[in-house]
Amino acid sequence: MEYLIGIDLGTSGTKTVLFDVNGVPVASHTVEYPLHQPRNGWAEQDPHDWWGAVQETVRTVLNKSGAKPEEIKGVGLSGQMHGLVMLDAQGHVQRNAILWCDGRTQKQCDEITGTLGQRLIDVTANPALPGFTAGKILWVRENEPAVYEKCRHILLPKDYIRYKLTGEFATEVSDASGMNLLDVPNRRWSGEVLSALDIDSGLLGRMYESCQVTGAVTLAAAEVTGLAPGTTVAGGAGDNAAAAIGTGVVETGKAFTTLGTSGVIFAHADQVTIDPKGRVHTFCSAVPGAWTVMSCTLAAGLSLQWFRNQFCGAERELAAAQGRDVYELMTDSAARSPIGANRLIYLPYLMGERSPLLDSDARGAFIGLSNIHTKGDMIRAVMEGVAYSQRQCLDVFREMGVDVSDMAACGGGGRSPFWRQILADLYGCPVKTIASEQGPALGAAILAGVGAGLYSSVAEGCKVAVHAGEIQQPKAENSAAYEPFYQLYRNLYPTLRDSFHTLATL
Ligand code: ADP
Repeated sequence: MEYLIGIDLGTSGTKTVLFDVNGVPVASHTVEYPLHQPRNGWAEQDPHDWWGAVQETVRTVLNKSGAKPEEIKGVGLSGQMHGLVMLDAQGHVQRNAILWCDGRTQKQCDEITGTLGQRLIDVTANPALPGFTAGKILWVRENEPAVYEKCRHILLPKDYIRYKLTGEFATEVSDASGMNLLDVPNRRWSGEVLSALDIDSGLLGRMYESCQVTGAVTLAAAEVTGLAPGTTVAGGAGDNAAAAIGTGVVETGKAFTTLGTSGVIFAHADQVTIDPKGRVHTFCSAVPGAWTVMSCTLAAGLSLQWFRNQFCGAERELAAAQGRDVYELMTDSAARSPIGANRLIYLPYLMGERSPLLDSDARGAFIGLSNIHTKGDMIRAVMEGVAYSQRQCLDVFREMGVDVSDMAACGGGGRSPFWRQILADLYGCPVKTIASEQGPALGAAILAGVGAGLYSSVAEGCKVAVHAGEIQQPKAENSAAYEPFYQLYRNLYPTLRDSFHTLATL
């Protein structure tokens, strides 16, 4: 038999899945590790913990599956994006990795914007954001000069695992797109940005396409993981780009929406298209010669979770007594409310908003509350408001010429047929589930399969290994009924913006 392994280096843990060549998961194992928050707003992890988790999960899936090491045709890596790993000349970790969710670098981001202005968006396709890597590099240079002085290699989280597996200092275009250092249209490090920020390009890894082989498992790595020496390791991809492959988003018109804690839309684009206002991100796709456009709203599933925690104690008790999911009970009562929730609109800006508003002072609201409203109306309004925010992101994509006609739904909220129907009606396109919930790990494994020559292309790999589940079709009469509510929703933030900003100062 022939198998592939996908390793997904998440923030809460590493999940490793061993697949057969048809994308069927044969064995899976997850090992968690801590997140360190040395100060309010900081977020770090120890790269040694990641490597420990990779060794343990790979050994476990090999044991559980009974696959022989020589039957593993390739390993693919997926991981949390943006994190900064610094190694010295001997390849030793110099300090904890600074993660995507660390907020310490606003000052450095302002400096980058001051130095490069609009050129930064033109070249790297994204504004300087505290989550991205460049600001973190400047922060270490300014605050820990001794560390910076000794640093010889800068790697992203999953690329540190590649180094431990193969001894190679390398990265690939999709993950590198989240550093604010890549020339995204040309898929190579930007000499212009690096020299403007005075960062030595020799610190950065060699650049690959995501499905290319970047190295082979060394003897030392084989001993600790159980893999065969010489097993090829493909470029892999950042977590969302890998999820795109694992959900078959590899052709024009295809996209996925994740309703997890946050809400993400990730769409394939054959041409590079950059939003000059920086409202959505453009990244290189894990498909060679293609790009992806991504939006991120901050409180998608979080909105429903917040409502559950604050107002649905009775439903939680009932759900526990009946052995049902509380979200299902909540959704049942929402389904009894009509489209528009009896003229109630919810704004999902509990954590401020990123796409497409870029306003950390925006806040949530129920607009139109009346004595007639029930909890069911409010739950429906929350689910509709989250869907309106996704539609508003999709409108930006469509404005940019990115066509979306085939949507997959992922994340906890994507499991709800009711929420998927609201999305389908607002998007005006079918919304489907994907049979396998292994998104990023499957995507990484497919990329490994292309590198190893098992599939002729990424699209071919997806045809073999990605299978659709249920599909919700848009209903024209529903779409028409939502439209006036959606248009009103769009107007509410501009109307309330000044009040939100004043509120933040009180
Ligand atoms: P994370 O982004 O933290 O990994 P998940 O993808 O697990 O989160 O999504 C969690 C969110 O999914 C919850 O906050 C909730 O809003 C939503 N959710 C989970 N189950 C359901 C369900 N059955 N119906 C509707 N929403 C759900």
